[in-house]
Formats: sequence, C-alpha cells, structure tokens
Amino acid sequence: MRYIFLRYPNGRAKAVTLSYDDGCAADVRMAETVTKYGLKCTFNLNGDALHAPSFRITDEQVRALILDAGHEVAVHGYNHRAPGAVRATAGIRDVLDCRLNLEKRFGRIIRGMAYPDSGIRLFSNGSDPEGVKRYLRDLGIVYARTLGGDNADFCLPEDFLCWMPTAHHNNSALFDMVDRFLALDFTKIYSAGRYPRLFYLWGHSYEFDRADNWDVIERFGERMGGRDDIWYATNIEIYDYVTAFHSLVFSADESIVYNPTLKDLWLDVDGRSVFIASGETLHIQ
Ligand SMILES: [Zn+2]
Repeated sequence: MRYIFLRYPNGRAKAVTLSYDDGCAADVRMAETVTKYGLKCTFNLNGDALHAPSFRITDEQVRALILDAGHEVAVHGYNHRAPGAVRATAGIRDVLDCRLNLEKRFGRIIRGMAYPDSGIRLFSNGSDPEGVKRYLRDLGIVYARTLGGDNADFCLPEDFLCWMPTAHHNNSALFDMVDRFLALDFTKIYSAGRYPRLFYLWGHSYEFDRADNWDVIERFGERMGGRDDIWYATNIEIYDYVTAFHSLVFSADESIVYNPTLKDLWLDVDGRSVFIASGETLHIQ
C-alpha cells in the first residue's frame, strides 16, 4: 500500500490564496498590490445597490484590475445577510440575487462565496448549518469561506462549504505562520504527513486604510510571492483542481490510475512526483 497525496500543478506541495470582502474602493490598491507580487485573490462582492458609489470599487475597475489580472469575483450576499441569522427564504434570496447580479455585471459563471458577517455559525430563526449548505448547493455555490476558527495546520478543507481560512491579516501570529509555512520541507516530513498545504489569508482592504498598515500586505507579498515551490491560485481554481484530483480512478492495488477529467494532475506517490495528463491511464511503477 502506498501513500498517495494531491500535488498542485507542476508537482508543487504548497499553495497560497487570498480572499477579500465587500468590494470597497480600497480593493483597487489591494488588487494592484497582490498582482504586483504574483499572488491570486478572490474578491467577494455584494449587489451593486448595497453600497454607496463612494464606498465601492467600480465595475470597470473590477474588470480591469481583478478579472483581467486573473483574480476571482465571488458572491458575498446581495444585501450582505448572514445566512445563520435570517430565515432560509431570505438567505436563499440574498445568495441568488447576488449571483444573478454579479454574473450579469461581469458576464461569467460565478460559483464561489464568502459568508457575510458571522460565517456558518451563530444560528437563529430556525436555520442550521446543513440547511444552509443544502440551499447553497441548490443555488450552484460550490465553496463558501467561513471564519472564527483556526487552520494553522494549512490543511485543505474537508468541507468546501465550510472553508476555514488560515489567518486574518491582523492575526498577531501571521508572520510566524508565514515563516512556518515557507520552512516546510516535504523531504523531511514523515510519510503520512506529506499532504498538500494551503495558506489562505483573508480580510477587508479598507482595514488597511483605517489602520494605516498597508505594509502588512506588502510584507506578506514580499515573503510569499515569487516562489517556484508555491502555486498561486484563486479560491475557485483550488476548488476545481482538488475536485478534479478526487475524480481520479484507481485500481484496487493502486498501481493503475485513470484521469477522466479535463485537467492535467499531479500526485505524490510515496515521495515520488507523478504526472497524469487529462484522459490518460497510467501504470505507476
Ligand atoms: Zn462582508
């Protein structure tokens, strides 16, 4: 029996993603900053009627600085309603209205989300986590970022509809976590621990304006950006890649693997890097 783990594109074991909320005007500087460092960020936007024009990034800026630069736009509730705090009908409407609004504004399919406010916790009005996740699936949402927990082990989510980030940028241990993440050496990790790692940073770009601490994201970019051993990806790119990996078909003794997906995929098999092209059947030696 072998230990077989997911590897990101080009066999890399580490990935970094960012997620920033509310579509505020400071997203302009945020998008320019993350692009400068080669990072990828998901920007979670509300309906275009929620915020005053002076508060928000314009649709033209979203197209030029976010979408054309390879970042992602995702749902954050048309009216920014916490699903746990409203009845299901209102929660469904807030997500669906937002998805319809964003897809019409930007002319693309949008399947990602960050929960507004309290994430998928603090329930009232008869809502519950399974009920919320059920209607998100029905509404075509494939992942949703939550908050309030701890993912300092850099694990991929077990449940993409309850995706816990690694840290908020105000976390006092942020750069200790960054150092620990960068120092991970997979040749020195015991065999069962060679699962892929993800560093997931989140926040609101207006917080940098209010706290006058844009140096935090600049330092993050300087430390994390431009590394050959890291895959920089948006939230949906990670979801799509991991989902494709989980579609691999193995023989019972794991010596034959078939890739039925449209993506080229990488695996780690007992410490060895293995590549399997889209549509390929491979005999693993
Ligand atoms: Zn928000």
